[in-house]
Amino acid sequence: MKNNNMLKTFTILILFIATFTGAYASSKIDYQQLNKEIDVCSNERTSSCFLNLLNKYKFNEIRYYYAISLENEKKLSQAKNELDIIVKTEKNNTKLIALAKEEIQKINDLNTKMRNANNADWGDYFSELDNTAKWRNARGLRVFVTGRTGKEYILNKAFQIWDNSVAEVSFTYVNSKENADIICYFVDRLNKGNAAGVTMPQMYQTPDGKKYLHKATVEISMYKPGTNGKYTDDNLLCITLHEIGHALGIISHSNNINDIMYPTTDTYQRYSISRRDINTIKKMYH
Ligand SMILES: [Zn+2]
Repeated sequence: MKNNNMLKTFTILILFIATFTGAYASSKIDYQQLNKEIDVCSNERTSSCFLNLLNKYKFNEIRYYYAISLENEKKLSQAKNELDIIVKTEKNNTKLIALAKEEIQKINDLNTKMRNANNADWGDYFSELDNTAKWRNARGLRVFVTGRTGKEYILNKAFQIWDNSVAEVSFTYVNSKENADIICYFVDRLNKGNAAGVTMPQMYQTPDGKKYLHKATVEISMYKPGTNGKYTDDNLLCITLHEIGHALGIISHSNNINDIMYPTTDTYQRYSISRRDINTIKKMYH
C-alpha cells in the first residue's frame, strides 16, 4: 500500500518537473539527469537520498518527496516541518501547495490518533486513585479457591491473566484458607445491592502511613442481583478480573470505561485487563 502511494507520488512529481521545465529552462538544469536521480532515491527509499537531492536542486517538489520519505520513516514532525516550508515558500505550483496541505492534515490526524491511543492504552491511572494498598511482596501470592460451583476454572483463568500480564505479580495455589493470602469463591447470591462481586481487603498501616494488605477475600455472585438470571462465563471472567484488581491493591476505581477497574455494574463485557490496568499495578509495585 505504502509502496503504491510512494510510486504515485513520484509519478506526480515527475509530472511537476515536466510541467515546470519551461519555467526553469534558464537555470540549465538537466531534467533527464534529475529524473534519474529521483528514480535512484525512490528505489533506495531513504530520506537521506532525497535530502541530498534537495540540497542539490532546492526545488519544493523535491522537498515534497523528501517529506514523504520522512513520513515513511515515521519521522512525522520532521516531515511536517518540510511540508510547512512548502506551504510558506512555494510561489508557482498551487497543486504542490494543495498536496502539501493534504499531507499536513494527514500527519495531524495521525498524531491525534496516536495521542488518543496512548491515553487509552499506555498510560496509568495510579495518581487518580484515592485508595490503594499493596502487598509487601506480590510475587507468589498464595491463592485458595473454594466453593465447588464448577466455575472455578474461571477464577484460575483470571488469576492467570493477571499473572501473565504483570511481572511484579504472581500467584500460587494452596489447599487451605489458613495458608492463603487471597481467598476466592463463587456464591449464588451476594446480597450486596447491585454488586456482582466484592473484595474484602484486610490491611494494616505503617507509622509512616503506608497501607499494606495481609489478606483479601473475593466473592463472586453467580446470579445477577435481583434476578433469576445467571451470569455467563464471560461475565464472570470480567467480574473476577475486576475483583482480583481490588485484591492486588487497587481499592478504588478507574474513571475510564475501557479499564477492568472501571466500576461498571451493567454489561461486564470486557474479557481482559487493559494496558492501563497493567501499568497501574506495575507502578504500585515498582
Ligand atoms: Zn470494584
